[in-house]
Amino acid sequence: MNIQRNPTRAVRIGSVTIGAGHPIAVQSMTATQTRDVDATVAQVNALAAAGADVVRIAVDGYGEAQAIPEIRAQTDANLAVDLQENYRRAETVAPYVEKLRYNPGHLYHHERDKPWQDKVRYLVEVARDNDCAIRVGVNCGSVDPAKQAAYDPADRVSPMLDSALEHCRFLDEMGFTRYCVSLKDSDPQEVIEVNRRFAEARPDVPLHLGVTEAGLPPDGVIKTRIALEQLVSRGIGDTIRVSLTVPNDRKPEEIAAGRQILDDIAHGRVRSVVDYGLSTLNIISCPSCSRVENEAFVELAEDVKRMTEYARQHKITIAVMGCRVNGPGETDQADLGLWCGPSYVNLKRGSETLGQFAYNEILGELKSRLDALIAERG
Ligand code: SF4
Repeated sequence: MNIQRNPTRAVRIGSVTIGAGHPIAVQSMTATQTRDVDATVAQVNALAAAGADVVRIAVDGYGEAQAIPEIRAQTDANLAVDLQENYRRAETVAPYVEKLRYNPGHLYHHERDKPWQDKVRYLVEVARDNDCAIRVGVNCGSVDPAKQAAYDPADRVSPMLDSALEHCRFLDEMGFTRYCVSLKDSDPQEVIEVNRRFAEARPDVPLHLGVTEAGLPPDGVIKTRIALEQLVSRGIGDTIRVSLTVPNDRKPEEIAAGRQILDDIAHGRVRSVVDYGLSTLNIISCPSCSRVENEAFVELAEDVKRMTEYARQHKITIAVMGCRVNGPGETDQADLGLWCGPSYVNLKRGSETLGQFAYNEILGELKSRLDALIAERG
């Protein structure tokens, strides 16, 4: 799949650069007590060994900030610090890390009388002096109260978007462009919408994608996958994080899951129907999992790809799904959809079911439906 990436600007985070067509970076965050230097170093290094491009560490209190130089001394990983509510810790930690993350909604907790613009000016100065990038990390659970008050409470997307765009404008006005943005929500559909709208407004700003509080695997991975499939396939996203609720020794699974999702999207192995924006044939098949109802599914997906080769100049989406859990619903969005049962394959055109066919009959049936569709569309 040749995905046309958004023309974002390059942002360097230590030894990794995101944006400007660089490979999508995969990152994670430690879940240890930051003050526990040994445990945090062990987790940072485990994540880096698993292939994390950047590892984020949360810092709020004084003790956590004091731990950062000690952690830095024991790892070569690119470190990002999450400033949480206490933005003033930036100057203590910045000399030891590659990126600072601030949340616009958290700039109100300390020094309430000070305008947020002054606080961001300070953060930019600290970032500049210490060769750090910045992430403006907007989160659905802690949006700038002024933005929230300006919109209908049922609209979760607009306040996040407005807040992110306002901070981008402010950073640009200061001539600071070494930043990326994230807009996270726990609902993948909201993540898709807010990031699409942001990318439309600011296609130049690199995006860090993720679903917050995604939960336990496999559901947490699936939720993230749903959002990333719809965004990365359309060229949106320069770095990602899969947030999973797992014990500390399993944290590196976040990296493996992130890389797997990106690889699957690049190869058309998707769980939701994805429009890659192609003007040609779009064949997608689910990546398969323990729910696959017949092992012949994988072979069938390959056969569909081969058999439909003759139609590659036509803008038609064909989805091949492995089971009844996701198959019936997900294929609704495809022009032609196949979902596998134990002994039959169900064939659909959009949301209409055309029938059930044996595994050795389905290709012939699909071909005649495909021919009819091509003839119809001229
Ligand atoms: S469609 Fe079914 S088999 Fe395929 S990945 Fe989804 S749940 Fe698993």
